Amino acid sequence: MGMQSKNTASIEDKRAEEKEVVSKMIAIYCRGHKHTTVGLCQDCQGLLDYARQRVDRCPFMETKTFCSTCRVHCYEQSMRTRIREVMRYSGPWMLLYHPILTIRHLIEEQRAKKRQTERGTMP
Ligand code: SF4
Ligand SMILES: [Zn+2]
Repeated sequence: MGMQSKNTASIEDKRAEEKEVVSKMIAIYCRGHKHTTVGLCQDCQGLLDYARQRVDRCPFMETKTFCSTCRVHCYEQSMRTRIREVMRYSGPWMLLYHPILTIRHLIEEQRAKKRQTERGTMP
C-alpha cells in the first residue's frame, strides 16, 4: 500500500498520541476516585497496560485514527466496560487539564470519522 509507506511516521505519531491520551484519561480517573496517592493504582495500571498493548497491535491505525472512532473495538468486554467508564468520567476534564492535546485529538477524530464516512467501508 502506497499510502502506508507515505504515512509511516504519522501512524507512529498516532499510536503515541492515542497512548498518551488514554494514559492521561486513566490518570484523571484514578486520581479522581482517590484509588491511590501516587501514580496509578494496580487496577488502573492494568487497564493502561492493556490499552497500550491494544494500540500497539492495532491493525487499523494506518487507515483510521483513534479507538473512539473504531467500529471493531478489539477490547475484551470487561476492559471495554472499564475504559468506557474512564472516558465518560475523564472526558470533560481533559479539556481543562490538557487543552492542546485534547483539541488536537478531537480534530483528528473528526477527520477520521469523515474519512470513514467517505469510504463507507472502514471498520
Ligand atoms: S479499539 Fe479499534 S482502533 Fe483501538 S486498538 Fe482496538 S482495533 Fe485499534
Ligand atoms: Zn485507579
